[in-house]
This record gives sequence, structure tokens and C-alpha cells, in this order.
Amino acid sequence: MRIGIDVGGSHIGLGIINAQNKLIIKEEKDYDTRKDDMSEIVIQTIINLLKQVLLKQNITIEDIEQIGIAFPGTTSNGIVIKAENLGIMNLNIEERIKQVFNTKIVLENDAKCAAIAEKQIGSLKNYDDALFIIIGTGVGGAAFLKGKLLKPVRYSGFEVGHMVIKETEDKCNCGRRGCFEIYGSMKRFKEKINQEFKLNSIDGKIIRQFMLDNKENKKLNVIIDEYIENLTIGIANLVNIFEPQAISIGGSFGHYEELLLPKLRKRLSEGTELYNKDSIPELLIAELKNDAGIIGAAML
Ligand SMILES: [Zn+2]
Repeated sequence: MRIGIDVGGSHIGLGIINAQNKLIIKEEKDYDTRKDDMSEIVIQTIINLLKQVLLKQNITIEDIEQIGIAFPGTTSNGIVIKAENLGIMNLNIEERIKQVFNTKIVLENDAKCAAIAEKQIGSLKNYDDALFIIIGTGVGGAAFLKGKLLKPVRYSGFEVGHMVIKETEDKCNCGRRGCFEIYGSMKRFKEKINQEFKLNSIDGKIIRQFMLDNKENKKLNVIIDEYIENLTIGIANLVNIFEPQAISIGGSFGHYEELLLPKLRKRLSEGTELYNKDSIPELLIAELKNDAGIIGAAML
């Protein structure tokens, strides 16, 4: 048995997968409190949840081959270098968890974990050259060539959200201006709709319903077209570099599948942004949804 832990912005998800990579148990726990630096809270939540699951399943740490941890940030050799949303810098999570649970611990960026799961058992399993792109609060992802995950020696790599797609004054969290993440994230898209139509919410369900109810609204379609245009620029840049057979999109973008995906497919298939005009990849939506991080972490 292997354990996968997905560290999120507001909670931890933990699962056990069997030899067939099937998720057999899943538990979640919200953080009790919030601090500027969430290091100790994240570690304590992991330890407590892990103890609880082992007890409940009547198993010991000796039954667990490996614990994989998916973390939303830059990771390197068991250390979280930085995770801005959790205020964490240089946290040796491998060492801290190993002090309590003596088994093999591996750490990887969460988008990479989700990508590994999608590649092995999800939407990308039939493709050798493929990209996985998470579009949610930010934009991240991973690339596979000849079935192998591209994995730099130093950090997580493939920070696609921080390639510049526009010459602009808009500043990204990373310090650069004009990053893909600014224009391609669902956060920005929802904020724009909220701003224009004064919905007083960027809740995904409310925005989605508003889009369904106002399909013919010209102003809404301008916002959608602009968003699709920006996504196309970013994705076309990646297609020109990697020539993927398929691209799977994870994150909250998937909730808007029927509203956004056909438009993105159509725009990209025009080929005008592509160096090789006929090199149009399949555009897919991730299949494993919220479980991808846990499963991928367990498969590391
Ligand atoms: Zn950036």
C-alpha cells in the first residue's frame, strides 16, 4: 500500500492506493487555524490525519511502502523551497514527517503529481507526448515526452504560468509583468465577470450559472472571447515547443467544460498561432478531478 497526501490551500487530502493504483481510502481535513506561515499547521495536520487513518484502517506504518506528498509550490529533494499561498519557505517536510513515520517519504509539486496520475491512469494514458495544464487560481502543469515526465534536477520546472504572453503593466505575484497566469487563470476570468456584471461573488457555481443564463450577452461574450484568446496564445506557445499529441486541462477550468472547451478547441484548431499549422493537439479535460493530486503523490 502507498499513501498520497495532497496539501491544499485550505485543507489536506490523504488517500491510500492499492497495487493497481486505485484509491481505496480517502480522508480530508481542513486546517484548524490560519497563520501567515502555515508550516507547523500543515505538518501537524498531516501527522494527525495520518495517525487517524492508520488507526481507523487498523494498519501500521510498516504496512506502508511509501508516502508521497503533493505540495502547491516549488519543491526540491524533500524540501518545500517556497509555497507562497501558505507563506512557507524552506521547509524540510521529508525530515519532519520521517521523524514521526519511519518510511520512505517523497515530495513533488502538486501539478506534477496530478499530471503523473492523469498520464498513468487518466485522460493522457494513451498519449506519449502530452502536456498537463492546471488552470485554476494559478496556471501550472507538466510535460511528457515519449511517455516520460520532464523533470529538472533543480526545482519542479515547467512554470508555464510565468511565461510572459503580453507586453503590459499588469504585475504577477512572481514579480514579472504580463505572465500567462494573469490572463489564463480562472481566478482572473471570474473576477472580470464579477466586475462587469456586479455579481458580488466569484463563487464558481454562481459564475457558471450566470454564464449559462446569459449565453447571448454581448459583454459576456467579449470577456469569454478575450479569455479564450489569451489561453490560445499561452497554449500555442507550449504546442510550438513540445508538439504534444494531447493536452489535458485540470483545475477549476473543468467545471466550465461545455462553456469554454469547444471555443478553445475551435480557436486553437484555426492553427494561426501554431508554427506547424497542422500540429493541433487533442484538448481534453482531466478525468481524476480532485483525486489526481493524492493518486499522483502516491505513485511518485
Ligand atoms: Zn508570474
